[in-house]
Amino acid sequence: MLYPNPQRVTSWLVICPVGAGVLMLGLQGKVAFVFGVASEDSIAWAICEKLAEAGVTLYLGFQKRFMSRVFQLKEKLPAIAGLYPLDVASDELTAEFFAAFAAENSGVKADILIHAIGFAPRECFDRPIIFVEDEQINTAMTISANSLQRCLRHALPHLNPGSSTITLTYAASTRYVPSYGIMSMAKAALECWTRELACHLGPEGHRINSISSGPIPTLAAGGIPGFDRILDHVAANSPLRRNVSQDDVAGTAVWLASHLSSGVTGQCIHVDAGFSITMVPESIMDS
Ligand code: NAD
Repeated sequence: MLYPNPQRVTSWLVICPVGAGVLMLGLQGKVAFVFGVASEDSIAWAICEKLAEAGVTLYLGFQKRFMSRVFQLKEKLPAIAGLYPLDVASDELTAEFFAAFAAENSGVKADILIHAIGFAPRECFDRPIIFVEDEQINTAMTISANSLQRCLRHALPHLNPGSSTITLTYAASTRYVPSYGIMSMAKAALECWTRELACHLGPEGHRINSISSGPIPTLAAGGIPGFDRILDHVAANSPLRRNVSQDDVAGTAVWLASHLSSGVTGQCIHVDAGFSITMVPESIMDS
């Protein structure tokens, strides 16, 4: 059906006597855990802003080294109700976040979990992939991929039924991108975790999806050699002839968090100005 069913719209109006914008998303009064704010360039920063705009109360998990930036965001967004340190490198440190949250917010449960976490040690990028050592590979996989399962395992007792979890991935999970190295393997594993967890938790109504973002200059992206050239290539050759912004990604995250995406789980949604559908760059036709 191409047009909204007027009867449906009427019943929504009766059920939700609130403003029209909020009515559509239905996120007013929901609660979110957001992990991954490091600076105002962080994708998670933009997601916080958009979720707050939609009426969501936020509880942030942050790495201590980024504390000042996270407090800056708290000053800007009254919707942030709590901030607690989080390090997903270990089970104990992940548990500490949820213990601190529960101690201060008895009975509060979340509806949304944003996992915008990625890290690989410098040594992963300063040598050919064949020489990267187990310890570095394991760190990258634990923090960038396996931490989704770790976060969800600890979060489950604090999640309402029918929650929505969103993680951030990159298209190097399925195709070669120069210098992305070990993060390609981590993103492939992260997308696999998304499908596994979606199937495992789906029967209880929980949804888990990933957003595959196009390249965006952030602190994490700064660690990828040649990142500026990737940005230029995408801007010149994506169907929309531009790069995506943090806001583009945040918009999709809000949609995935809302009831508007209620039938979507285990998916990887590309927010990349369409770049992932191309194969031969348009620029070969120039000359
Ligand atoms: P960012 O540097 O702003 O965010 C990365 C976050 O990971 C930081 O907040 C950092 O504190 C967190 N983190 C790293 N190690 C952690 C640990 N041990 N415990 C807890 N948190 C930890 O960069 P971003 O680009 O906003 O990255 C967010 C997500 O988006 C990452 O998964 C990244 O791979 C993904 N992504 C980014 C791009 C891009 O081009 N920027 C593209 C596709 C996907």
